[in-house]
Amino acid sequence: MLKGKTALVTGSTSGIGLGIAKALARQGANIVLNGFGDVQGPRAEVAALGVAVDYHGADMSKPAEIEAMVRHAEARFGRVDILVNNAGIQHVAAIEDFPVERWDAIIAINLSSAFHATRVALPAMKAAGWGRIINVASVHGLVGSVQKSAYVAAKHGVVGLTKVTALETATTGVTCNAICPGWVLTPLVQKQVDAKAVALGISNAEATRLLLGEKEPSLQFTTPEELGELAVFFCSPAGNNVRGVAWNMDGGWVAQ
Ligand code: NAD
Repeated sequence: MLKGKTALVTGSTSGIGLGIAKALARQGANIVLNGFGDVQGPRAEVAALGVAVDYHGADMSKPAEIEAMVRHAEARFGRVDILVNNAGIQHVAAIEDFPVERWDAIIAINLSSAFHATRVALPAMKAAGWGRIINVASVHGLVGSVQKSAYVAAKHGVVGLTKVTALETATTGVTCNAICPGWVLTPLVQKQVDAKAVALGISNAEATRLLLGEKEPSLQFTTPEELGELAVFFCSPAGNNVRGVAWNMDGGWVAQ
């Protein structure tokens, strides 16, 4: 379905971003990976799906590097057809204890990076008459939780940015939508499970049950594979007129 198209997925060396990159690759899209840590492993996993893979190591807190990443993808593959703004970090603390530098980093990486990548990639999508911008927000783009002021503010911002992008492209072949996962067991969440186990002096399995039980009625994690299939749907012909939605995949979290 996506043969000949190119997808740039930020924060795709791990977790949800890698899951989305692989789902798009299974549909034939060439992939540009981004993110820190091991690159060779994720690169090989995507290449094994039979598509061309490239990588750019831009730091999503740096606007000039984000622009260079988009230009790199355009130079390598001719165009970015699908932009997935996924990179994100978390920090958990009460507002009065929240380190200012963590606030700034979360707003830059989780919110401003989506604006910068969209700003740079959008003109070529509009000129081509087709494009997909998928912003990975969170249930925390729809509801709040204690101790996550920066993350919740950033993710609500991402949902707002998604709506404006969708409106500004409404008469074009470019769509913009947000994905709002509940708990997904990635390194980002594993850190929160580990911290809970230490804080409460309980096992990892018990901490996992507690974490799910507090928020997610299904008591199940959403998987990167499931989120990848939602991204594929947004890129499918059936998604042509899906614009500006914030689609939660959250085991019932925000239905409460
Ligand atoms: P993860 O830690 O597994 O992956 C994060 C990715 O972002 C990694 O590839 C990492 O290298 C990259 N990254 C971090 N800082 C970066 C920077 N400055 N520049 C470039 N890349 C950077 O986390 P994940 O759970 O897969 O999270 C992916 C997205 O999904 C995030 O936006 C997160 O907020 C969102 N999300 C996650 C969950 C969850 O339960 N895991 C739920 C809702 C939303």
